[in-house]
Amino acid sequence: MEDCLFCKIIAGKIPAKKVYEDDKVLVFEDITPQAPTHLLIIPKQHIIGLKEARPEDAEILGYCQLVAAKLGRERNIEDGYRTVYNVGARSGQSVFHLHLHLIGGRDMKWPPG
Ligand code: AMP
Ligand code: ZN
Repeated sequence: MEDCLFCKIIAGKIPAKKVYEDDKVLVFEDITPQAPTHLLIIPKQHIIGLKEARPEDAEILGYCQLVAAKLGRERNIEDGYRTVYNVGARSGQSVFHLHLHLIGGRDMKWPPG
């Protein structure tokens, strides 16, 4: 999608610190990290967000979670991390291309803010 920041990162038009890539997803460092590990896992196909996902997107949604779990293992943060979708502007969603946050490497509070 032309006007989408994350589609531009996928296309290589905007730089990002890439961590992992395959035919389905791209993973890169969040530009404003909220923890020692803060990665964004994004599908290469443009999906606006979780509430816009369709039944046929189930596989890619599950795949993003499994990629997060793999990276959590590799980064040795399995003592505590979160995978988070912000859904809708009121939750803080600011980029409208689906992205799974992987946040870890520090103590976290519950409930989140
Ligand atoms: P959200 O608020 O859930 O929509 O998350 C969007 C995330 O994208 C935020 O955590 C931003 O820090 C991050 N972000 C915005 N622009 C970039 C960029 N150019 N490269 C990497 N991360 C970005
Ligand atoms: Zn996009």
